[in-house]
Amino acid sequence: MADYHRGVIDLHTHSTFSDGSETPATLARMAKEVGLAAIALTDHDTTASHDDMQAACDAEGIELIPGTEISLVDHEFPRVDRDGKTTGRGVHVLAYFLPLDPNSPMQQVLTRLRADRRTRNQALVTMLRDLGFERLTFSVVEGLARSADSIGRPHFAEAMFSLHPEIVGERTPESWSNVFVEWLGSGGKAYLPKTELTLEEVVAAAAGSGTVFSMAHPLLNYLGDYTADRIEREMPAIIRSLKDRGFTGIEAYYGGTSKPIRDLMVKLTRDAGMIPTGGSDFHGTFKKDVALGRGHSGDLAVPDHVLNELRDASARSVG
Ligand code: AMP
Ligand code: ZN
Ligand code: FE
Ligand code: FE
Repeated sequence: MADYHRGVIDLHTHSTFSDGSETPATLARMAKEVGLAAIALTDHDTTASHDDMQAACDAEGIELIPGTEISLVDHEFPRVDRDGKTTGRGVHVLAYFLPLDPNSPMQQVLTRLRADRRTRNQALVTMLRDLGFERLTFSVVEGLARSADSIGRPHFAEAMFSLHPEIVGERTPESWSNVFVEWLGSGGKAYLPKTELTLEEVVAAAAGSGTVFSMAHPLLNYLGDYTADRIEREMPAIIRSLKDRGFTGIEAYYGGTSKPIRDLMVKLTRDAGMIPTGGSDFHGTFKKDVALGRGHSGDLAVPDHVLNELRDASARSVG
């Protein structure tokens, strides 16, 4: 194995192959500039960026971990909506060291998720048009993405700002966030779940393949609004349940949270005997306030020993 230098890593990033604004080549160059020893490119529901990213990382002398971020449903901790109705909770899950062979069960899961995403995107166009965004069409949204498979909600948000400022206002970091609260986010007027595939189904599909799972931004998925008290009260049971259901890691070092919260999440993850993973969730200009490697507050530093632990867990899970 190549002798990579030790240091800081970033295990959660997006490129033009999903809803990031930068190509794999640019991302690898930026990773070099900020001094990352290793990176995972976790485009949504796809590993299509892997070959480009591998070539770019080889050129820069950075280690690449195969990864993806997938949208799944958790029925163990359902969401209760305004009228008291419970629905499966949509969560984001990071998968690392997954097989790239298109015939593998894990890649078939990704194919299914991309089909679900296409169906959701078509329905979202119809829904937004009915809600008054009448200039928004599928081809406009598609034109903002690398391909139809790459379309995510940030592309919808961008189209809403460029076509309908009379509804959503001029684009600022605040109005961008409001578009998710009011329209596109869970609880928004135009929220549509992407898939019915569950955590359990995907963990089963990955059996023996060396894939390891980490729960992405756990506080966004499970708590929404949080305080340290609430995290200490509610997260241990969630973390324990994820471990029981075959998860290896929890994204405790999440770039969108402050250092005290990250420290608390690392402790709770270790208490459960799991691996605290971490990353910035870099999306380029689609999240202007998030820096590669450094996250939102600028002081993120995911230690590389986490990667060694993940690699060991992956090796142990090969059947
Ligand atoms: P999708 O893959 O279509 O479900 O879109 C998911 C992406 O939407 C995430 O990766 C974020 O970039 C973005 N997103 C979701 N919720 C929010 C939010 N509340 N504020 C800003 N961006 C969000
Ligand atoms: Zn994204
Ligand atoms: Fe996510
Ligand atoms: Fe992400």
